[in-house]
Amino acid sequence: MEQAELAALLFPKTGKTLADYETVYPPRRLPPGAPVTRLAPSPTGFIHLGNVYGALASERLAHQNGGLFLLRIEDTDEKREKPGAVEALIEALAYFGLRFDEGAAAAGERGAYGPYRQRERVGLYHAAARALTERGLAYPCFCSEEELQEIRAAQAAAGANFGYYGAWAKYRDLPPAEARRRLERGEPFVLRWRAPEAAAAATVTVTDAVRGALVLPANEQDIVLLKSNGVPTYHFAHVVDDHFMRVTHAVRGEEWLPSLPVHAQLFAALAWEPPVYCHTPLLLKMEGGGKRKLSKRKDPELALDFYRREGYHPLAVREYLMTILNSGYEEWRLAHPGTDMEEFSFSLAKIGASGALFDLQKLNDISKNVFAALAPEETADFLRQWAEAMSVSALLKAPREYLTAIAAIGRREANPRKDFIYGAQIFSFISFFFDECFQAEDPLPDNMTGAEAGRILTEYLAAYDHAAGKDGWFAALKRLAVAGGYAEKPKDYKKQPELYKGHIGDVSAVIRLALSGRKNSPDLWEIQQAMGEQRVRGRLAAARQRYGGPG
Ligand code: GLU
Repeated sequence: MEQAELAALLFPKTGKTLADYETVYPPRRLPPGAPVTRLAPSPTGFIHLGNVYGALASERLAHQNGGLFLLRIEDTDEKREKPGAVEALIEALAYFGLRFDEGAAAAGERGAYGPYRQRERVGLYHAAARALTERGLAYPCFCSEEELQEIRAAQAAAGANFGYYGAWAKYRDLPPAEARRRLERGEPFVLRWRAPEAAAAATVTVTDAVRGALVLPANEQDIVLLKSNGVPTYHFAHVVDDHFMRVTHAVRGEEWLPSLPVHAQLFAALAWEPPVYCHTPLLLKMEGGGKRKLSKRKDPELALDFYRREGYHPLAVREYLMTILNSGYEEWRLAHPGTDMEEFSFSLAKIGASGALFDLQKLNDISKNVFAALAPEETADFLRQWAEAMSVSALLKAPREYLTAIAAIGRREANPRKDFIYGAQIFSFISFFFDECFQAEDPLPDNMTGAEAGRILTEYLAAYDHAAGKDGWFAALKRLAVAGGYAEKPKDYKKQPELYKGHIGDVSAVIRLALSGRKNSPDLWEIQQAMGEQRVRGRLAAARQRYGGPG
């Protein structure tokens, strides 16, 4: 029996041939040199920062150069797939503002090179598998689990490398007639790649856009192309997909470097031009003076969910990832504050190959700048979105204008405050503005009795003029302090403490505690303006009661 017959027996229902698919998915009509990039996540329920990191590189590469960026779902591993993971993945990527031109999307999918879910592309894989089998480059392997174990034990005894290769590949040279007999008996099989004979001693050179020319040992393993259920492995599927989706650049993590030689072999065997591979470095973190890989188990910040839960602004995450992705970005940002990140000229050559150090503290610093640069309305809207996702009722109930006024405190000036970092932190920072969250967190200062605090609040309330500007308000506060026996300036009090009960800071501390429940807060006048007169008076009166002053 000839190879062609064996191929026909293995893939009887193959409709289209590889040649047909060439017409179905013709080369794209894009300007010369325009990259086609893809993000190809597996829906295992764990989307991580590495995905966004690679996606950002792919997105920039495509969009900066007139190309396009697509989303392909690599769902060939049914066992590891979590229900709803595809939708969660699409949603998580959307949160980070990654723009896909084509591919899987929340409402079905878009584009002429689909389907974009691997499970729906079996026809393509089988056409490619058939072509390889016809040429004797792939063969059915009937190895049972026990047989594989026997091979392994024999390899261990002989001190040979493990795997299914060369003389150890038991079914590699099974006569086609014998293969037919087994197939007709319905024996389960996988389809294996027949690695070139000469591979054992050979090397392969691949030019990686991040790492330059890589000389790697050629692959000698007869890897599995199709599993026993007919579903392809990643190695095989991505080769077929990157070819027929006309992907020009494959950005992926460096964990794929060891399988690069087999991918190179598959592309060569099919006479397809491989994409330019760009293996991005691992995300590392400092620990105990050394660097280590970010781990799913130990580092909550690896999971994308973390950023949504905590309420990191997507711009901050993108901005930060760009600083670790492209050397020179930070300097560019300093020189171009306020310019859109897309103006930066991103390049694969600026990706460092030796590991990207991820530092949450640095992200926090960037977040502060991002919030400082946002319009208060934008911050308010962002907080509401976060509150919706996290069901933070106090924020949800607050009118947009109130949130905007709060977000505007200290942020409309040339040197805006930089104390907003992420949703959860901002909420706890501003929670006192919401009546249902207000708490008298800090006690009165030691030198202040409840009765004296009550007296101050009574007078302050009586004199309170909500319409006063900041200067007028402060002048009135000073008058009140002085009339009550407090020094107008702390330094006067320091010089002659016997003359005073304290200084103006003690008086404002009482008012601050009444309004915010805290001994530290942003500017009092601004707080009052944001809160509105009614709330201010209510807080002052309630505090007066709390401190035991006249009711
Ligand atoms: N499905 C693979 C993964 O999630 C994709 C690797 C690639 O981008 O080619 O790691």
